[in-house]
Amino acid sequence: MDPWLLTYDGFDRAQEGLREALTTLGNGYFATRGAAPEARADGVHYPGTYVAGCYDRLVSQVTDRSVENEDLVNAPNWLPLTFRAGDGDWFTPGRAEILACRHTLDMRRGMLTRLLRVCDSSGRITRVEQRRLVSMDDPHLAALTMTIVPENWSGPLGIRSALDGRVTNSGVARYRGLADRHLSGVAAHAGNGVIELLARTLTSRVEIALAARTTLAGGRHCSGVEEDRVTDDLEIEVRAGEEVTVEKIVALYTSRDRAIADSATAARTAVVRAGGFGELLDRHVRAWDRLWQRAHVTVEDIEVQQILNLYVFHLLQTISPHITELDVGLPARGLHGEAYRGHVFWDDLFVFPFLAPRFPEITRALLRYRWRRLPEARWSARAAGRTGAMFPWQSGSDGREETPRLHFNPRSGRWLPDRSHLQHHVGLAIACNVWQHYQATKDTGFLAGFGGELLLEIARFFSSLATCEGGRYTIRGVMGPDEYHDGYPGRTEPGVDNNAYTNVMTAWLMRRVLDMIGLVGAEGVTRKEVECFTAMAERMRVDFHDGVISQFEGYETLEELDWAAYRHKYTDIRRLDRILEAEGDTPNRYKASKQADVLMLLYLLGAEELGEILTGLGYEWNAGMAARTVDYYLARTCHGSTLSAVVHARVLARLRPGASEPFLVEALSSDVKDIQGGTTAEGIHLGAMAGVAGLFTGSPQTAACDP
Ligand code: BGC
Repeated sequence: MDPWLLTYDGFDRAQEGLREALTTLGNGYFATRGAAPEARADGVHYPGTYVAGCYDRLVSQVTDRSVENEDLVNAPNWLPLTFRAGDGDWFTPGRAEILACRHTLDMRRGMLTRLLRVCDSSGRITRVEQRRLVSMDDPHLAALTMTIVPENWSGPLGIRSALDGRVTNSGVARYRGLADRHLSGVAAHAGNGVIELLARTLTSRVEIALAARTTLAGGRHCSGVEEDRVTDDLEIEVRAGEEVTVEKIVALYTSRDRAIADSATAARTAVVRAGGFGELLDRHVRAWDRLWQRAHVTVEDIEVQQILNLYVFHLLQTISPHITELDVGLPARGLHGEAYRGHVFWDDLFVFPFLAPRFPEITRALLRYRWRRLPEARWSARAAGRTGAMFPWQSGSDGREETPRLHFNPRSGRWLPDRSHLQHHVGLAIACNVWQHYQATKDTGFLAGFGGELLLEIARFFSSLATCEGGRYTIRGVMGPDEYHDGYPGRTEPGVDNNAYTNVMTAWLMRRVLDMIGLVGAEGVTRKEVECFTAMAERMRVDFHDGVISQFEGYETLEELDWAAYRHKYTDIRRLDRILEAEGDTPNRYKASKQADVLMLLYLLGAEELGEILTGLGYEWNAGMAARTVDYYLARTCHGSTLSAVVHARVLARLRPGASEPFLVEALSSDVKDIQGGTTAEGIHLGAMAGVAGLFTGSPQTAACDP
């Protein structure tokens, strides 16, 4: 087994979406799923291409309401490349018998190879080898080659290369029924051996320009322009046993790019000037070599090594050093699919510990994405009657709250209110990331500048969110990381009170802001604010019951779930929220969590610092309580998020190493084995991928939050 290769033998309809997601190629600027070049979206294949930060908003009708969603746009498909023998059918899915098929993702070199043997309806057998790259050297270029060997036939061989604008955002079944056509005014053009497509997103009006140059030595060209699509047909005489190779070089620009006159000219010029596949590959492999020198995580177990290579590969394909030139955050599901619409959540919290020491230029760029959206976050705070900056739970183009107000339960078929925008702890994650970046770089200029501004504005928000009741600072009406509790049974106001994670991390934040002031001064901070930050660092409220931290105030009054009965009835209860809702019930009634919530504190802070904060707040805390707290929530969590296994693996590794193994295995398997049954096909889980890599690097998770 070669830990640098991920290989899929044969064709499996049910696994195709997963394979496509896991063999996505990208470079931080754009990424394309590992779909077959001859395929269109057909329920089995889904050739998606996503340009980082290219969003578009559309309004849909859901039940009797209008809902607006912002999506990461599926760009025109640059892959189409197929062939035919004589005047037979073009090779497309289902049109020929597949005798053999193998996909190999070479992670060290960033290349996807596909070997095929196919037989058409006239018994003509053809061997095909395709190689593909999305250049890590020049982020605007991609390339595909196809070598064809007619095994038992001779005659004319037709090649069809195309750029296809007939795409929609329809990769996630749950979102079907919502508006999905983001491209308008697609214009196709062909001339001088180059085919071009120019599309514009409907409401954000971003131009996406693609140009392709297809070459086949000795081949005759014939281009065709249709509505929304442009093709380049080539023909050549072939003899049985002889091989011919066609190359397709593609350039992609958008009107948001810098140093261009216009996107169409930029794409055309780039594709004309680009070298051939071999030259692009050399430069691409050298760029990957440089990345791997900084990013490779070495372990002894070869299977684990392969998974770690895969996860780091996808992390770097999504947020490569090229993002330093862009304005993008970390899309939770990568540039690999359409789940969560390319939105940015808190998942970068799991990515920073791995990336900040290795690629501080990337973590800085991710923080710049947040900082550019400070005005919006300030406005949101004002609109909510607060001060400082309230960052959105889901963020996209301009930083407004993108969390949908309704979500769909496929189990019950019902649209339900979504209150997850109450996860204000996303601001605490950003603060943690600021601190992590500072820890990795010791850049006091960053703290004195935009890093410190973020920290301070987030601290101001949390100080305005808290109220002092009976000598303790309390925070009411929020959601913690456990999304299964968005309110109290029988209470109409949404959210829970005094979520321990939020409150303890708020105390941590106040400590860090005071550290920052100590380091770089208090310019622009009033004495009253410093007093408030100090008081909150010392007097945040945390609830306890039965000798454990309460996930939130009143948690102890909730009912115990009959876990055995639910496991027996449903086997997989990861999405307990959907199960309960379909039964007419709600997780709000139970002591049952989707993912680590209280235990996030141990994950981020470690036992020592957590103890320091809790005792600093005047609470009793000891090793016995820590162990009891872990066991308590372990028994009441169903791991409905891939992040949960990562957190539990680390927390248990520190507490009881033997017990962490199943979580480590689950965390490692999460995407490669698609343990959530179908979600990876809709996009990888970047937080979990980077979190797993962090588990093997002894990465400074605790230092993430140490002063
Ligand atoms: C998790 C969140 C996470 C989001 C995006 C959800 O299922 O509960 O914690 O941020 O997915 O990955």
